Amino acid sequence: MRLVFLGAPGTGKGTMASVMAKQLQIPHISTGDLFRLHLANKTELGTLAESYMKDGKLVPDDVTVGMVRERLKEDDAQKGFIFDGFPRTIEQGKALDAMLQEMNLSLDAVVDLVVPEEELFRRITTRRVCKDCGQIYNTETLKPKVEGVCDTCGGELIQRADDNAETLRKRLDVYTEQTAPLIDFYEEKKLLLSFDNHNKMGSGVDEILDLVEKHRQA
Ligand code: AMP
Repeated sequence: MRLVFLGAPGTGKGTMASVMAKQLQIPHISTGDLFRLHLANKTELGTLAESYMKDGKLVPDDVTVGMVRERLKEDDAQKGFIFDGFPRTIEQGKALDAMLQEMNLSLDAVVDLVVPEEELFRRITTRRVCKDCGQIYNTETLKPKVEGVCDTCGGELIQRADDNAETLRKRLDVYTEQTAPLIDFYEEKKLLLSFDNHNKMGSGVDEILDLVEKHRQA
């Protein structure tokens, strides 16, 4: 299975991709997580990425595509993958096409998660993530068993630096200007599946897999 999750910040891409990837035993490739890992490891790439991330801007395409190219070469990605937060520009979409073509592979589908904008603000400002494993929680809808502690690894739960109302406004503008054009890009390639992810909170995995299966058979 080779899937892409599209959707504005807060539509549930990370949660959905993580649950689905575990179920299918394929890697969940989140470019945001990869940048945050570089940042935590204080690499040169991490320092560069941080200067864009803190303002809600996109890291330049060449840097992002280079990082994804390396990730796709790893063994675990040979049996499939779920992209979350990549591609985010038409340039990245074209670069992904080229990378897959070189590998003689193609995407099965691109799933666009849709949630009303007012809900995005609530979800993002109440989101918490595990500092160590990246598992996503929510102070209202997806609480850990012990407050502030990750159920999976025991790590500390934190709020991402860019998960505040002001930066989210910028991230949504960036999404509308640079990422939303990918909806038409993938619609034209007959890969786009739209999924209403309002009030689902990660429970739509099987529904999406059904949609993908029907799409593959069509
Ligand atoms: P995310 O975790 O997907 O919300 O991404 C957090 C931040 O990482 C974004 O606001 C961007 O600054 C950066 N980022 C993640 N993925 C990409 C991408 N595909 N292209 C450019 N920047 C990205």
